[in-house]
Amino acid sequence: MPKATIRDVDLADKRCFCRVDYNVPMKGTEITDDTRIKASLPTIKYLMDQGAKIVLATHLGRPKGKVVDSLRLDPVALRLSQLLDAEVRKLDDCIGDEVEQAVTGMKPGELVLLENVRFHLEEEKNHREFARKLASLGDIFVNDAFGTAHRAHASTAGVAEFIPGYAGFLMEKEINALGTLLLSPGRPFVAVIGGAKVSDKLGVLESLLDRVDSLIIGGGMANTFLLAQGHNMGKSLVEPDKVDAALRIMEKATDSGKKLLLPCDLVVAHAPEPGVPVKVVEPDGVPGDMMALDIGPETRKVFAEELAQARAVFWNGPMGVFEVEPFRGGTLEIAASIAHVDGFTVVGGGDSLAAVEMSGYAGEISHLSTGGGASLEFVEGKRLPGIECLVDRA
Ligand code: ADP
Ligand code: MG
Repeated sequence: MPKATIRDVDLADKRCFCRVDYNVPMKGTEITDDTRIKASLPTIKYLMDQGAKIVLATHLGRPKGKVVDSLRLDPVALRLSQLLDAEVRKLDDCIGDEVEQAVTGMKPGELVLLENVRFHLEEEKNHREFARKLASLGDIFVNDAFGTAHRAHASTAGVAEFIPGYAGFLMEKEINALGTLLLSPGRPFVAVIGGAKVSDKLGVLESLLDRVDSLIIGGGMANTFLLAQGHNMGKSLVEPDKVDAALRIMEKATDSGKKLLLPCDLVVAHAPEPGVPVKVVEPDGVPGDMMALDIGPETRKVFAEELAQARAVFWNGPMGVFEVEPFRGGTLEIAASIAHVDGFTVVGGGDSLAAVEMSGYAGEISHLSTGGGASLEFVEGKRLPGIECLVDRA
């Protein structure tokens, strides 16, 4: 069912409890990347223009229910006010008398930023009373935090029990882009999955197999599959207890006539460190004291050929330890291949986005998803609590 957005509701004079994702990387009190703050601006500017009173809420880091001074949102409020060229009042808490008073005194077009919602244990527990208190700060709920939409927390879903919820523009963009891949992708539809978190992503692989025409597996993820095929992977990152699951996925691919592509050569070294000697081996030639840290040149060619005929692509997970120079070639070449695809391309995942930025091809990807876990769960076909709780579009 399509979800209603902020375009579907009269916002004038309305108090909007607006959940954003300002979980930005920080070094001390300095924001090292403000992409997520910038991504929220279209929604905030629209709410301001419509004369809404905007109460912003977000989490930052993992304070685990305690006040952690280094995770206070003052630097975020400052950066937001610079970007908007407007005053952003940062409050010292997200519930309580002082907050209520501040919100009551707001005028149309004004903004406040609540303190880190995860300073309260009740946030992640989706405590009903806590959600009710947050919801009392708004006439409506605006959810623009796609990155936490897969979590049923008080500020991401719980509030919708008390006030009607609408998608912000960023949320709408994510739903539309990922929805296209889920429901009506161009064909052939190729998924590229890599990275390190094998156990987290096995479910995604299984459900992607139902939808894609080809599944390309690289990076740390591929190692467990190569191990399952009987190769000795030396000191590579592997998850031996996932070998059975890997075998099942390979079997499922064969049974359903889907292509499953694994690396046919690998870049190996003694450690993922800059300047170490590297060599290229086939999967049955990984030395016992070395580890596979990137896909090899032949693999890059095969993957590129598969991608060249794709009309839709979903990519999550780097093809190697791209953070370290000698092991980034595979990831950068795959980024280039995906950028050149004649069709709809989506990249999701924190590290994958960093890799695409590094490649210089970010501008040529159709959609860069701001949510790592959330984009995977969406593509898996799971229902995300932060989306489900929103009002259905009539
Ligand atoms: P994303 O954040 O895009 O979802 P992941 O977090 O799953 O991706 O994986 C990214 C990490 O995987 C990177 O830190 C990268 O160094 C690591 N990685 C990729 N390939 C390998 C490999 N062959 N061995 C060890 N780590 C790897
Ligand atoms: Mg990651």
